[in-house]
Amino acid sequence: MTLPASKASDPRSIAGLPGGSTLLATTQQQISRAAANLNLDPAIVAELQHADREIMVMAPVKMDSGEWKYFLGYRVQHNNALGPYKGGLRYSPNVDFAEVRALAALMTWKCALLGIPFGGAKGGIQVDPRQLSDDELYRLTKEYTRRLLPNIGEHVDIPAPDMNTSDREMAWIVEEAGRQLNRPVPGIVTGKPLSHGGNPGRKEATGNGIGTVTVELLKRFGKAPAESVVAIQGFGNVGRHTALYLAKQGCIITGLSDISGGIYKADGLDIAAIDAHVATGKLLDTYQEPGVEHIDNAQLLRLSVDVLIPAALENQITTDVVTDLKARSIVEAANGPTTLAAQDELARRGIPVVPDILANAGGVCVSYFEWLANTSDVTWTLESTRTELAKTMYNTFQTVRERSQATGRDLRSAAYEIALQRVAKAMEERKEGRKAAE
Ligand code: GLU
Repeated sequence: MTLPASKASDPRSIAGLPGGSTLLATTQQQISRAAANLNLDPAIVAELQHADREIMVMAPVKMDSGEWKYFLGYRVQHNNALGPYKGGLRYSPNVDFAEVRALAALMTWKCALLGIPFGGAKGGIQVDPRQLSDDELYRLTKEYTRRLLPNIGEHVDIPAPDMNTSDREMAWIVEEAGRQLNRPVPGIVTGKPLSHGGNPGRKEATGNGIGTVTVELLKRFGKAPAESVVAIQGFGNVGRHTALYLAKQGCIITGLSDISGGIYKADGLDIAAIDAHVATGKLLDTYQEPGVEHIDNAQLLRLSVDVLIPAALENQITTDVVTDLKARSIVEAANGPTTLAAQDELARRGIPVVPDILANAGGVCVSYFEWLANTSDVTWTLESTRTELAKTMYNTFQTVRERSQATGRDLRSAAYEIALQRVAKAMEERKEGRKAAE
């Protein structure tokens, strides 16, 4: 099989392989390993290695110039044994089927691990949103929604924000879906603005969840947040809220980066000032503060810290990075930030890694609260959202830790085993039910 040439600009590319293919191979290997440890039925494993349904749509958009452009959109529905398909929608020039397939499977494990009644899906549009005007993005989002509509729905498949999408795109989707279906459908997406049926605390949910598990991990080292040093790669919605949460807990954040580069300050960066700088649309390369050094991505990943938090792209922690890693632990805020070979090397060296399906599950957790509010008469305040989110993240972290201790395997293996066991059980029971009905 010849793989398509990797786009030279794909920052996730490993040894010339497209980032999506590398990620897909990693997630498939995780499934195989966990399934072997659980001794799962090979028929179920074969089903889990593939998605239930894969959709590609072509969205023509009239650009502001009057010219027509065509964009490829994807939606992969991996598994719905535990509930409707659920997962984000990302806008990125490197999106391809392999990437969306892998990310859809990660959503299945994430929801199962958290114990929320959703399956896994993911969507993407191959576009660099920085090249489009707001009006063009609006038309693109609406066109994608129209073309995807028969396949999404409040009890079918529920998109949410992901890389380069936010509550704005979710509002466009919910409006367009309502118009097409001629009825309000607030539960068709989550991560909406409050005015469209969103939930308080959704925007910061992923970051707060990452913060909660990071503080728990630090406790394992016997460290209080105020004596802990952290570096974060990525200052998008997830990285930003993780930084704000941890800074509030008193953590010393010495390194941060975004697409323009990184910044470092030995005695801790002023996160509030950086947040204000970025809120004006500026990037970190123009940030100044006394004592700040400008560093590159490679340097950021090699800082001497208690916790390194990759919160940007896939395949960032490679064996090269692990070779000179000075971090004591890793908390995966991005989906799939660590390559398989790097995971093995980290496990061999006994460096704890809180895996993505646990660390960044706070987003979909609050998505579930939002969906419940949209589809039943439950309502959430900011306080109840925060309390329930923290409780869910804490309990899931402890469950994964306990399994890891009991099996002697790393946190990722433990998390996958718990998730796979739950999904496989539902699939087995579904088949049994079918047999009984025959
Ligand atoms: N995009 C987020 C994730 O990867 C949230 C998904 C959701 O809320 O459905 O977990």
